[in-house]
Amino acid sequence: MENPRQDILDLLVELVGIPSVSCTPAEAQAGRFIHSRLGELPYFRDNPGNLQLLPVPGDPFGREVVMAFVEADPTVKGTVILTGHYDVVGTDDFGSLEELAFSPLEYTSALKERGLDGDAGKDLKSGDYLFGRGVMDMKCGLAVEMALLSEAARDQSSLGVNLLFLAVPDEEVGSAGMRAALPALSKIKEDRGLDYLGAILTEPGNAGAPDAEGEVVFLGAVGKVMPFFYCAGIGSHVGQYFEGLSASLLASHISLLVEGNPLMADRAGNETAPPPACLSIRDIRNGYSVTIPDRAAVFFNYMTLAKTPAEIMKEMKQVAEDACKRTV
Ligand SMILES: [Zn+2]
Repeated sequence: MENPRQDILDLLVELVGIPSVSCTPAEAQAGRFIHSRLGELPYFRDNPGNLQLLPVPGDPFGREVVMAFVEADPTVKGTVILTGHYDVVGTDDFGSLEELAFSPLEYTSALKERGLDGDAGKDLKSGDYLFGRGVMDMKCGLAVEMALLSEAARDQSSLGVNLLFLAVPDEEVGSAGMRAALPALSKIKEDRGLDYLGAILTEPGNAGAPDAEGEVVFLGAVGKVMPFFYCAGIGSHVGQYFEGLSASLLASHISLLVEGNPLMADRAGNETAPPPACLSIRDIRNGYSVTIPDRAAVFFNYMTLAKTPAEIMKEMKQVAEDACKRTV
């Protein structure tokens, strides 16, 4: 693989052509494709131990993490990690063009015939954009990283650092790939005495800078915790409302205390993370009943910059207590 733009585009189209929706058999196929494509490079033919497929332990979908190491020189310990995920979300939202979702060239042409509104329409007309599932999130980032790796592997003498490429599955659901990769990352670090200088993630995203023009690079990382509440109430017929305790009301109070609460938005330096957002709130029951729900669940997306899971747990226990008082 060469580095020119056309090669990256061709690779991108091939990657997108594998319908690697999370938790489907095709997901694992994408990992094996990346592995075999990198395996064609002379560097990895000469150093087969530097290119590995690491199985996700006990995974029902047989998914694997691709790990590729390009060593600058055995004396160089500084290592930069290049990483990304190869799974994508589903294609339900493609409507009548769903069968073209994984054929970006054809899909973009089909969209051109129909036209799109707003900014997306302008982008489409410009001819500079390619549409399709996984083009942006994030097979284009993977294609760029693979091209970089290929260039670095051609002449390691020019590298001042080692490059460690890591392509993982399951980013969109349960992070099984990254969780499986962590022991391998620490093992190779120990075995070779590496010093991790940083990690580059080529995910797209302008969520933190919606008005930015051109390319945006974010420094640092954001964490995510998902506090989950299981609400246990007491069921009773609505006619004896005060005999029961509504789990739905309890879940509602929890949501009111947490969702969008600016006091909970985490901070570090000049940065403030978005406040927690409720991702699901529901009673747990089958069908209609005229009794007060006795079980409910609610969970949140909570982004972190500095807070630890233990701090958030303490905060959430306080929320549970306050919500109980308000419900009773
Ligand atoms: Zn992504």
